Formats: sequence, C-alpha cells, structure tokens
Amino acid sequence: MYDVIIVGSGPAGLFSAYNLVKNKVRSILIIDKNPFPSGGMLNDCKLNLTPDIGMELDDLFLTRERALELIKEIDSIFLKFNAPKELYGENAESYKEWVERAKRNDALLVGAIQRHIGTDLSKDVIKSFRKYLEGEGVSFTLSTNIENVEQENSGFELTSDNNQDFHCRNLILAPGRSGSKWLRDISKKIGIKYSNGKRIDVGIRIEMRRESYPITDLIYDPKFKIKTKYSNELRTFCTNPGGRVTLEHYDDFKLVNGDALKNKKTENTNFALLNTVNLTEPLTDPFVYGRLIASATNILGGGLPIVQRVGDFLDEKRSKGETFFDSSRWYDRVIPTLSVGNTVTPGDIRMAYPYKIVKSLKEGLIKLNKIFGNTILKEENLIYGPEIKFYSLNYETDKNMETNIENLFVAGDGAGKSRGIVGAAISGVIASEGILKKWKI
Ligand SMILES: Cc1cc2nc3c(=O)[nH]c(=O)nc-3n(C[C@H](O)[C@H](O)[C@H](O)COP(=O)(O)OP(=O)(O)OC[C@H]3O[C@@H](n4cnc5c(N)ncnc54)[C@H](O)[C@@H]3O)c2cc1C
Repeated sequence: MYDVIIVGSGPAGLFSAYNLVKNKVRSILIIDKNPFPSGGMLNDCKLNLTPDIGMELDDLFLTRERALELIKEIDSIFLKFNAPKELYGENAESYKEWVERAKRNDALLVGAIQRHIGTDLSKDVIKSFRKYLEGEGVSFTLSTNIENVEQENSGFELTSDNNQDFHCRNLILAPGRSGSKWLRDISKKIGIKYSNGKRIDVGIRIEMRRESYPITDLIYDPKFKIKTKYSNELRTFCTNPGGRVTLEHYDDFKLVNGDALKNKKTENTNFALLNTVNLTEPLTDPFVYGRLIASATNILGGGLPIVQRVGDFLDEKRSKGETFFDSSRWYDRVIPTLSVGNTVTPGDIRMAYPYKIVKSLKEGLIKLNKIFGNTILKEENLIYGPEIKFYSLNYETDKNMETNIENLFVAGDGAGKSRGIVGAAISGVIASEGILKKWKI
C-alpha cells in the first residue's frame, strides 16, 4: 500500500512527486504506460515563465502573485536538473516595435520570458529529475498501462492491462492529453464529477524559412492573439525556431505538432495558428467535433496529415506531389521538415476543414503577413493540418485539485487544469499540497 500513487509521469506527475518528497513523503509510486518517464516534457520543452500562457488562474484557483511564485520555484527546479541558463524575452524594450506592429493589425503580442530546453537536452534533464526522485525513495513502474481504478476501503486499487494490481491511500491522476479519454471513461465508471468543455482549438501549423520569422531572435515563442471576423480567438502557439514539424499519434488519426533541438537547428521555423471554436447546441462535445475534423483530414491524406503550399492555398488549389517542389513557383525554397509522401500527403486543407475555420485562419494569416512585411504568405511556405488541441473536460475539484471522491486528485492537461508544461507542473504541486494538508503525512 503506497501513500500516494501518481498515474502519469509528465510534468504534473513529476512535480507533484517532487513536492511530496520535499515534504518527507517516501511511499510514492509513479506509473506510466511509456518506457521513459516524461510525458510531453520530452517534446521541445520550452518553459513559458508567465501565468498568461498555458494556464488559466481560475482553473488553478490561484492569484497572479502565487502563480508567479510557483513559476519561479518550478523554473529553479528545472535549473537544478541542468536546464540551459539562457532566457528569451527578458527585455520588453527590444520587441516594442513588434507590439506596435501587432496593434496596427488587430493583434496583441503577449510578451513572456521563456526558457528553451529542447528535445535533445530535455532527456538529460528528465533523467536527472528521475534519479533525484528515486534517490528520495520514489518508485517508478513504467511500460505499464493502467486500465482500471476502483475504490476500496482504505483507498484505491489500480489494475494494469497486464493484470498487475497497485494499492494506495491517495491517488493523483495526471494522464495528460493522450490519457484524457481514459480519464473520462474512469470518471464515468467511478463517479468523478466533470462537465463537458465546449471549446476546441482547430488550426494549422505553418512552416517557413527561419529568416521569414525574425521576431524569434527576441522572443523565442511569440504569442499573437489576432481578432478576426470569424473567430472568438485566433492565436499563434508553440513556435519552434530552427525546429521540425512532428506527428502526434492517436488511436485513430495523426495530428501535426512541432519541436526543436537546442543544439542542432534546421533552416526552418514552424508555429501553430489556432482557432478557438466554441460549440453550441446540439453538438457541444469537442471530442466528437475534433475527431471529425482530424479523421476527415487523415482520410483525405490517405491515412496521413496533409501539407499544402501557401501558393496553392491562396490559389484555392490542392497541392500535388508532382508540383510540390516546382522551382518556377519558388516551391523549392522551403524544404519541409516532414517527409512528403511518407509522413504527410500534399493536399488541400480547405477540403477537410469547415468553411468558417478556413476563413478565420486565412484572415489571421493575412494579418500576420502584414505584421511581418509579406514573409508569412510567401508561396513556398507550408501549411500542415490537422493541428488540433483538445481541451480536456472540466473536472470539478476544490482548490487543492481534489475531486468529489475523497483522496482522489487530478492534475495536468488531461484534467483540463493546464495547457503547457509549467501549468501542468503547477497543478501537480497544488495536488500534492492538497494531499499534504489533508493527510499531514
Ligand atoms: C510535440 C509537442 C511539443 C510540445 N511542446 C511544448 C512546449 O515547448 N512547451 C510547453 O509548455 N508545452 C509543450 N507541449 C505540451 C506539453 O507537453 C503538455 O502541456 C504537458 O506535457 C502536459 O503535462 P501533463 O503532466 O498534464 O501530461 P503529459 O505530459 O502528457 O503526461 C501524461 C503521462 O501519462 C501517461 N498516461 C496516460 N494515461 C495513462 C494510463 N492509463 N496508464 C499509465 N500512464 C498513462 C502518458 O503516457 C504520459 O506520459 C508540447 C506537446 C507536444 C505533443
């Protein structure tokens, strides 16, 4: 019987364990279905050191001041485990001009201090993190998929798909976005209260030559919030200067995403342009809507995501394999970081996405193009889809992340408490504080 079991070794899970051992709890087990602990922290790992990105203070029941304290603490733990010292975006004066340009084009540039660890260095940071936790008595059971959770007299029984049983007095479920469906199923079964969120982000990932997006020399991951006629909110997200477009594998479709290495750069930069959709009756289930678009895009791509040259998108034509590198249209100037034909299929994003979303994305691209002086809509640039961010369900918790089931806590992206590494880590710390307060372990 463990004092605490944590399902999910992403930032929410690891930081909750860190805070528990700091407070002398020793009987902790972290379980993850993957063979390497980390969750999404392995990917790119840029830390947005501001409460304005990747979290909602209301979801975390935090004041801004407390959030800033926690962010500082979390950043110092990353540094302790050898995160690079370099920071971006510290000097707001240096990007004043971009703030002004954004304003003139119906956009708001949200400044933030950021630390980039990179997919290459994050592995070592996580290894140090794990070594430290193990040194403090935390156990890891990896490559183990928890299938079932049951309440029992003294706490909880967890069963994995290979029939291993685990028992604990306190449980933190932090399964991330990839585990959000599982969390919903478990919640239905054992009666954890939640409500359906009605929002979803549907967008594209844009890739261009690095010099076309020079702002990243000043702010690593600039967030532009753009007003358009068609959307409540359109924003840039997850910028990867010198980075790569990547694939995210789900059970029945693939999405695009992006990352960057710290020490080895490509010639390209990519970022997402996300359109927030607020669903209204009768279809209010964002999972159903998101899956619809993701599946349609993958079906049109022959089982793969779609890539389209901006030139074809503006001409309202599909992209085709035979003209994808056509030098007469400068299409050979941007070489995609995903292999065309093998991992993405040339196609037409307008066939897969609803009209309203395409219109909104196009308007956003035009505004960004004005901000950057015609570098965003160069014909050779690339548009990839589907890029979809599923907001998880809203789990009803108290301010310590405890659900209506006593001693069962939730944290991180999968529980709708965060949308990024730092936010997830904060929610994990709060859940662990909840356990410490309640049980005085
Ligand atoms: C390509 C990519 C790049 C990203 N880049 C950034 C970035 O630069 N900065 C940023 O802030 N955010 C980034 N994100 C988002 C970030 O990874 C997440 O916000 C963050 O990892 C969420 O943390 P979490 O602890 O809630 O969940 P996760 O990190 O997703 O961890 C959840 C863990 O739970 C495990 N799990 C799920 N279900 C089960 C189960 N039933 N049994 C056992 N284990 C289970 C999973 O295997 C996973 O390891 C990126 C995401 C991706 C995909």
